Amino acid sequence: MTLRAPVYKSRVRILVVEDEKKTASFIRQALQAEHFAVEVTHDGGEALLRAQQTPFDAIVLDIMLPGLDGLGVLRKLREQRNQTPILLLSARGEVNERVAGLNAGADDYLAKPFALAELIARVRSLARRAAEPKPVLLRVGDLTLDTATRRAQRGGATVELTTREYRLLEYLMRTPGRICGRLTILEKVWDYNFDPGTNLVDVYVKRLREKLDVGHATRLLHTVRGAGYVLREEP
Ligand code: CA
Repeated sequence: MTLRAPVYKSRVRILVVEDEKKTASFIRQALQAEHFAVEVTHDGGEALLRAQQTPFDAIVLDIMLPGLDGLGVLRKLREQRNQTPILLLSARGEVNERVAGLNAGADDYLAKPFALAELIARVRSLARRAAEPKPVLLRVGDLTLDTATRRAQRGGATVELTTREYRLLEYLMRTPGRICGRLTILEKVWDYNFDPGTNLVDVYVKRLREKLDVGHATRLLHTVRGAGYVLREEP
């Protein structure tokens, strides 16, 4: 007898957290039309519970929520070592919140109003990245990255990374010694084929550098002024 896994098991699961019911409903319909399995909640506390119970492939998280807001949900999840990719939704003008979100470990953000096609592309990219294992041990100096377990170590000590930081580090470690420009990084790590006109890459590189290089005599992640970034042992 052949047992076949039900189709729904292989569907990509997305949690949508948005208190504006109309917006939540639009997002749900758009993602369902693309065959994602979608759960919606209008409440931050409820979002936290659901994310703890279910391994989602990605979370679409609005910043402005009553009670526990999106940034609160994000911080709690990351504190709990939950590294589900998170796409933050922010209202126009919430620039500080956006930066705070990226610093707290969000993987991407989208400013309202957005095109549904854009949302779908971002969600698909996050979910795909999360599901992509390429088991290789990468090494630059005393820094290693196990792409099967997604564990980074420097001098034997584990470096904790968010999903996007991991993607950035993996990309830089796959091209050691080569200067990577911001646009190339946006394309390879964020799947952007345009310049969103933000300092997204700089923010992430800075954070990654703090995690990798602070407390070590040799710096590995270097800025090449006007050109981009490079990972190498020499200064
Ligand atoms: Ca909202």
